[in-house]
Amino acid sequence: MTKLYDYIIVGSGLFGATFAYLARQRGKRCLVIDRREQLGGNVACRKMEGIDVHLYGPHVFHTSSREVWKLVCSLVEMNRFTLCTVANYEGRLFNLPFNMNTFYQMWGMTTPEEARKKIEEQRREQGLTCEPQNLEEQAISLVGKDIYETLIKGYTEKQWGRKCSELPAFIIRRLPVRFTFDNNYFNDCFQGVPEGGYNRLIDGLTEGVECRTGCDYLSDREYWNAQAGTVVYTGAIDEYFGYQLGRLEYRSLRFEHEVKEVQNYQGNAIINYTSSEVPFTRIVEHKHFDINSQMVQQLPRTVITREYPMTGAGLEPYYPINDERNNRLYQQYRELAEQEPHVIFGGRLATYQYMDMDDVMESAMKVSRR
Ligand code: FAD
Repeated sequence: MTKLYDYIIVGSGLFGATFAYLARQRGKRCLVIDRREQLGGNVACRKMEGIDVHLYGPHVFHTSSREVWKLVCSLVEMNRFTLCTVANYEGRLFNLPFNMNTFYQMWGMTTPEEARKKIEEQRREQGLTCEPQNLEEQAISLVGKDIYETLIKGYTEKQWGRKCSELPAFIIRRLPVRFTFDNNYFNDCFQGVPEGGYNRLIDGLTEGVECRTGCDYLSDREYWNAQAGTVVYTGAIDEYFGYQLGRLEYRSLRFEHEVKEVQNYQGNAIINYTSSEVPFTRIVEHKHFDINSQMVQQLPRTVITREYPMTGAGLEPYYPINDERNNRLYQQYRELAEQEPHVIFGGRLATYQYMDMDDVMESAMKVSRR
């Protein structure tokens, strides 16, 4: 029987939308469905007070892939936003990621040599001479004890709900540490935020593709399977298999949005609150992402979001907890997935890994080529 579509794409996040875009270019008939009421998955924005509010956490696009950047820029104009996060510890402010500004603010060090010596001294005092065994040891090795205790410990323990000494070292290994006065959070060649918000990027990727929102694939999969030859599934892999082997664990977040009656609340897009005494991890002020728009910058109000880490089954899944138990369980689900010949599993939830937006787009490109 001929099917209506070549692909039914479950999930309109960046994986699903990029796949749909590329499949359409090859003349394939696609249907994108999403159980949410809005397209875009995690990058979806909503206008509040004339400002694009990042509904599922602040998103800054950064990549070193020319192919991904070229595709994004062919669909939307990217602004010159560069993420320079600030940390607030008990009212003292520090630049992040760790760089000469941070070392100056912490210790008054003015040269890279002085800073390196100080870090080395603190590493030796802790007796850290061999390969770090956990996040605490890794952090002290990278930036010393003072910065670990002030800027990393409280924040990370809130974020993960576990002690740093019980967390794996790899979580922090990728964090930039620079001996230059450079507050740019990322090392990538290209960075920015779409002019007019991420919804424009999703609109560009899905232009000409049939999309339906408020449709849950799993609640009627026979009906949806009958529509297309191949399913591209970007939801959670354990949910696809009815949690038959157990649940994969995630850290979740609660976002508390608030309109403030001031033009500029905190002077920066993201301020991390690194003390364990403060219950949230960061405050996002969304208008600062729209750096080129004078109109937005001059609005008399602003929208901020406080981000509270949470854990528990049934909450929105954000950060996979890639410990031994979960990775083993994921491998078992992966084996089940390989027995589903007409389903392509893709994106962060189906592969149970944290991926940046460019990684997700790149993997959709690879899968689509294959
Ligand atoms: P998603 O965007 O989650 O899309 C999956 C979609 O599938 C969802 O819309 C969901 O509703 C839908 N779906 C699931 N199950 C079903 C079903 N049964 N039926 C129908 N639809 C279903 N990356 C960066 O590069 N820069 C950043 O600054 C950045 N910040 C981040 C901040 C936070 C707080 C988080 C959590 C992530 C951040 N990321 C960032 C990562 C980025 O969000 C992801 O890489 C990307 O959005 C993942 O896209 P996706 O398509 O894989 O998944």
